[in-house]
Amino acid sequence: MTADEIMNTKVSELLKQDTIWFYLLNRIGVEDKGYITPCWLMEYNGDSEYALMPNSRRKFGSRAHQVAYHIWKGERVQGCQIHHLCGQTYCINPDHLEEVTPTQHAKYRQSRT
Ligand SMILES: [Zn+2]
Repeated sequence: MTADEIMNTKVSELLKQDTIWFYLLNRIGVEDKGYITPCWLMEYNGDSEYALMPNSRRKFGSRAHQVAYHIWKGERVQGCQIHHLCGQTYCINPDHLEEVTPTQHAKYRQSRT
């Protein structure tokens, strides 16, 4: 499924397909943050750095963007990290997420400062 297909799918259909989808999509605000396409920003949940998943939904990870990537793009490579191409750590738009090695990730972080 592409990001566009997800946004054009009825919530009732998503609910049938996967409850984690429903959970995530029910908690995003679509906002243009200057990246190629708008960001899907998770609602603030008290953590200063990343949107976190509640304990009951941590099957795929504790951070919302990791869970989103896992569901949308399939299995993750072990040891890899998810980088935000848009620079918005609360964003879960799968088109804005990229799987990178920890070394690559550190380089991205350095080049931003
Ligand atoms: Zn984004």
